[in-house]
Amino acid sequence: MYMIIIAPFEGKIAHLQELLSARELRASRRKALAKHYNACVICVQVNMPGAIKQNLASEEIFQKAQQTLEETLAMGGYAVLFEQAHMLITGPEGFWVVNAPAATIKRDCCKIEQAHKLGRLFDLDVTDAAGHAISRIELGLEPRRCIVCGGPAADCVSRRLHTLADVQAAILSILEEI
Ligand SMILES: [Zn+2]
Repeated sequence: MYMIIIAPFEGKIAHLQELLSARELRASRRKALAKHYNACVICVQVNMPGAIKQNLASEEIFQKAQQTLEETLAMGGYAVLFEQAHMLITGPEGFWVVNAPAATIKRDCCKIEQAHKLGRLFDLDVTDAAGHAISRIELGLEPRRCIVCGGPAADCVSRRLHTLADVQAAILSILEEI
């Protein structure tokens, strides 16, 4: 792919404070959207390791996530009440408000994360109309897998099992497959 040739992971550093305030803003945005539309909210992000969150790789991955989500919602015949996507220094993020049961939407989103070639790099969070986040565990689904070793991703992150270079190499090899 063209973007592999030019620096896929270069960009501006997102500082911890910026990441924390972006997370807070996302949470309040999700709550406000859920309340306003009284419907479930999908928040789309990209799993991008390291301090640089907005780069060619994350933009490419986000566009694929957006496209796949929209196809899935269209196939399910769900009414999309609102959608918005931003490219931020803290990484691309998007919100979709959908008039459908949150558990159904979460299952569909987990299917995307599992079935799409780039799915392990997608982060599709779903909250219901009351603002409650639907977890994989409560739906009886497996935890997410690490893109480097295939183990439970949360363990690898908390135990820092892989270097940034390892994770970036894994991302590149997934991107090269598409
Ligand atoms: Zn791992």
